[in-house]
Amino acid sequence: MLVETTRSGVRRALDAARAERKRIAFVPTMGYLHEGHLSLVDHARRVGDVVVMSIFVNPLQFGPTEDFARYPRDFDRDAALAGARGVDLIFAPSAEEMYDAGQPKVTLVAPQWARRLEGEFRPGHFEGVLTVVAKLFNIVQPAVAVFGQKDFQQFVLIRRMCTDLDFPIRIDVAPTIREPDGLAMSSRNVYLSAEQRHSALLISQSLRAAVDQYARGQRDPGVLQATARGVMQQDAALTVQYVELVDPHTLETPTEASNESVIAAAATVGTTRLIDNMILGR
Ligand code: AMP
Repeated sequence: MLVETTRSGVRRALDAARAERKRIAFVPTMGYLHEGHLSLVDHARRVGDVVVMSIFVNPLQFGPTEDFARYPRDFDRDAALAGARGVDLIFAPSAEEMYDAGQPKVTLVAPQWARRLEGEFRPGHFEGVLTVVAKLFNIVQPAVAVFGQKDFQQFVLIRRMCTDLDFPIRIDVAPTIREPDGLAMSSRNVYLSAEQRHSALLISQSLRAAVDQYARGQRDPGVLQATARGVMQQDAALTVQYVELVDPHTLETPTEASNESVIAAAATVGTTRLIDNMILGR
């Protein structure tokens, strides 16, 4: 496995693959890898000939009061896990390499319809995400990029960016990988104490409760949202930021829930912010 830290190094390393018309499959991450990230690598290997992973904690997508400085990082561990799983090239740039002149002057703007859910609680977040992903796409120039359902609003926006700005890149989505008890895997789970982890479990349980209620015939988005919120409110250690049932294409709340609808939630436990979502019909 190759490790590149510069943009020019990545381009050079991938020139040969491109000349041989190999399909490059790309998995962007912020590192501190877990089974969720590695499942994206498995998917990338199935759909591509060369698998590229980026590991970059992107300062642009963190708000001033968020966890950029303490975000967990362990490059050696990540490299071992990625190599064992079949990643061919890791791109791990520094912030100076990615943003040579400091704060970039031209950035992408997330559309108005993204300013809810994550967009409402993390102002500037999607601008940072779209800008870094556009840069990474231009550096790696993959045929396909793989994202996780866990960050559902993110892949919806990135897919839309590719359509609207003519990136010739297919966006694939892979299912959320969970701990055996249902907690969605996240690099941020390491912040949780044993007690907090117990509280955090209510997030997936609340979404599951709404999915089960839907399976039993409930179609009213308001009722399904209230069910999920009610489960999370059982634990005072959990502060709910939002619970929303949305259409996966428009991100708007439909008048009636359907199999495709996504119920998404964000909550904080102590100083840790966690998100999760489920598709009702699955
Ligand atoms: P991150 O490193 O958190 O920015 O995540 C990098 C990629 O991994 C994103 O496409 C995430 O959606 C995906 N991802 C994170 N957690 C999970 C999970 N539990 N299951 C599946 N994909 C995930």
